[in-house]
Amino acid sequence: MTISAEAREFVRRRATDACEYCRLPATSSVLAHQVDHIIGRQHRGSDDLENLCLCCIHCNLKKGPNIASIDPQTRRITPLYHPRQHPWFRHFKLAEFHVIGLSAEGRATVELLDMNAEQRVQLRQVLVRRGWSP
Ligand SMILES: [Zn+2]
Repeated sequence: MTISAEAREFVRRRATDACEYCRLPATSSVLAHQVDHIIGRQHRGSDDLENLCLCCIHCNLKKGPNIASIDPQTRRITPLYHPRQHPWFRHFKLAEFHVIGLSAEGRATVELLDMNAEQRVQLRQVLVRRGWSP
């Protein structure tokens, strides 16, 4: 099964053209944001709209088929942030251009997706200067 063009357009609009994990706007990326399965097909995730999200290339490559990781604070196995089930601002905040995880899911996702890699922090600095906020 492939995701229809209509479904891709719906997901892009629903996400307001921003990565649903790191909130990077599509306009700031040379490589197009992608429609991704939150729960991958390997884990029997469906093509339903509720299992799809918009994802920047960086987050997509780092997430891969993962659905869980380790919370760096508790060292416990933790489900990843789920864009359809978890409000972003309850699980993350931006501080000094870094994405900070506020929950176990948030912390595990920040780590796995390497959201604070140097280039990503530098890009956020430029975006914030231009008036962007997550
Ligand atoms: Zn991202």
